[in-house]
Amino acid sequence: MENLGAITFRETALLVDQRTGTHAELERVADVVAHENAHMWFGDLVTMSWWNGLWLNEAFATFMEMLAVDDWKPEWKRWESFSVARAAAFSVDGLVSTRPIEYPVRAPKDADAMFDILTYEKGASVLRMLEQHIGPTVFRDGVRQYLRTHAYGNADTKDLWTSLGAVAHQPVPELMDGWIFQPGFPLVTAEVQGSQLRLSQQRFTYLSQESTTQQLWQIPIQIRFSIRGRTEHHKLLLTERETSIDLPAGVTSIFVNEGGHGFYRVRHQGVLLQQLLDQGLKRLAVIERFALVSDAWATTIAGMTPLPEYLRLTHHL
Ligand SMILES: [Zn+2]
Repeated sequence: MENLGAITFRETALLVDQRTGTHAELERVADVVAHENAHMWFGDLVTMSWWNGLWLNEAFATFMEMLAVDDWKPEWKRWESFSVARAAAFSVDGLVSTRPIEYPVRAPKDADAMFDILTYEKGASVLRMLEQHIGPTVFRDGVRQYLRTHAYGNADTKDLWTSLGAVAHQPVPELMDGWIFQPGFPLVTAEVQGSQLRLSQQRFTYLSQESTTQQLWQIPIQIRFSIRGRTEHHKLLLTERETSIDLPAGVTSIFVNEGGHGFYRVRHQGVLLQQLLDQGLKRLAVIERFALVSDAWATTIAGMTPLPEYLRLTHHL
């Protein structure tokens, strides 16, 4: 646990034998050490004004676990193994009864229920999505500005977005509000219509529910177009129910959510899925392949993808 200038550890979270410890044990110790050190800045140097802001301390420290451990031991591929934790957050957040990351807290004990996967893993995931959207260097500069501005003081969630938005010259507060103050996450459906790629969003839930149909997010989307041996990358922010973009000439396959860092599911419809299968799923990055298969499985369970289509996909693994 973090205290200003004095981090306390359970022995099991600090002591591990490098020769006999399993990879999971080594990773766990590295994670906890990185996490608690990150709290020196997020939590101690800058403290959240009140308990409703707990998520930011914990999500940021969780995000830093991956960032620091990935830098220290790139061969551990920490962002790939984070896919498993993110998948667990998706499972909880796909329930109609899920909660927003941040909600009003009156008494400190009301925050007890916040120490969960939505605060830590979903929180870290949406930070990763934002970092990839505005770029790691800009993201880091924005964090530095936030820490400088609020050092030895208190801050709220919006203060971080304000700093990141100022440095990125983008409306970060508007982008992030939907991810923090709304429950759940979107499903993005991608399909080819003529010479265009159509992208649409709806909330993903395992059970269909009337009350969720109006929700909208500002969704950072990275798309990779494969065009006869070369690739083109496209970034956009889906703010409406749907949008369409022109397809580059000669495109042979398209992957939506390139890098797999977005906290949303994607349904590659019809010919898009077929093209990915034809080019071979091994050509996708590990995180992308994991996302493609788990998104297909989740949408199959939710009754949005026919079972044969899912089986066709797994047959190619
Ligand atoms: Zn923590």
